[in-house]
Amino acid sequence: MARVFLSPPNMGGNELEYIKKVFESNYIAPLGEYVDKFENSVKNFCKVNSALALNSGTAAIHLALKSLGVKDGDVVLGSTFTFMASLNPVFYERCEAILIDSDESWNLSPKLLKKAINLAPKKPFALIVTHLYGQSAKMDEILEICQNEGIKVIEDAAEALGGFYKDNALGTLGHAGALSFNGNKIITTSGGGMLVSNDENLVKKARFLSTQAREPLLHYEHKTYGYNYRLSNVLGAIGVGQMEVLDKRVAKKREVFEKYKQNLSNLSVEFMPEIPNSKGNRWLTTLLFKEKNAHLKVIEALNKADIESRPLWKPMHLQPVFKGTLSVVDGTSEDFFSRGICLPSGSDISDNDIDRVCEIIKSNII
Ligand SMILES: *Cc1c(COP(=O)(O)O)cnc(C)c1O
Repeated sequence: MARVFLSPPNMGGNELEYIKKVFESNYIAPLGEYVDKFENSVKNFCKVNSALALNSGTAAIHLALKSLGVKDGDVVLGSTFTFMASLNPVFYERCEAILIDSDESWNLSPKLLKKAINLAPKKPFALIVTHLYGQSAKMDEILEICQNEGIKVIEDAAEALGGFYKDNALGTLGHAGALSFNGNKIITTSGGGMLVSNDENLVKKARFLSTQAREPLLHYEHKTYGYNYRLSNVLGAIGVGQMEVLDKRVAKKREVFEKYKQNLSNLSVEFMPEIPNSKGNRWLTTLLFKEKNAHLKVIEALNKADIESRPLWKPMHLQPVFKGTLSVVDGTSEDFFSRGICLPSGSDISDNDIDRVCEIIKSNII
């Protein structure tokens, strides 16, 4: 039996045909028709004005910060319960991070966000809020607080493509949003990202910075420095094929979640919630056991059966790289980290594999 992975790639079927077309045109690079098509299909799906395909989600977060006009030493607020990539760009731009804990939604606590703004040594420039595991953060409250304070909102929707908050695609509610097409995400180009925004000028700036900040002249002219962050046409072709099946992937991920929930309904476990007026993509099915460290026993047992699972993200304020960073925390994400698990949630996982996972959980949890 093949190993069961957490969230492996799942091609829709047309990707190879599109890649072939790219090769036949010899236009494997730079950029090209399929990158444009990919950007358009994300724009249409997300109902957003502008989209910029990039070579990673991290690059999208970086260019969101840059294009919004971040400066050395600016204060940037961020969810502490997230993956490091959310906040790596804060280091690239020599900013000062303030890490904010989650609430019962598992995502950023609006209450602690207010507290963090009050504690900040100066007015924060931006907030990077993560939609963890594809589930929406409390965007109405978060946007209102940030709007009142003049703080820019960047949504890290890297895990959340296909998720919605009140009919708005996650990533399109703030000033800018970052999507990821890394290998384990809900859809993948093997590696890639996208910056989305309703602010066309912002995306224009980001597009310029993503192509070495080259001025639009015949010769190569540079008034500032830029980055080489663009996506290749070959990967754009994969993206076009993957966007065709995004709805299907979301439906399947949500179905996988429901199956786990039903199967484990007799155990005292808590699944990650879905806040009112939202519909997440359930990228990964995640849950909390009652007992501290119970997840470690389960992860080990699953691994013995050749099934991949993982602890929840280790909060950023516990990471050595953030030692000394101001954090506004109340123990919530630390508690989640001490007893939570990510279950295998591939969009091609079989019912039989879900049953096997559940049996192993049941036999290891009292
Ligand atoms: C995957 C991920 C990213 C980064 O995306 P890459 O495309 O891998 O650079 C950022 N934030 C979160 C929360 C992620 O899960």
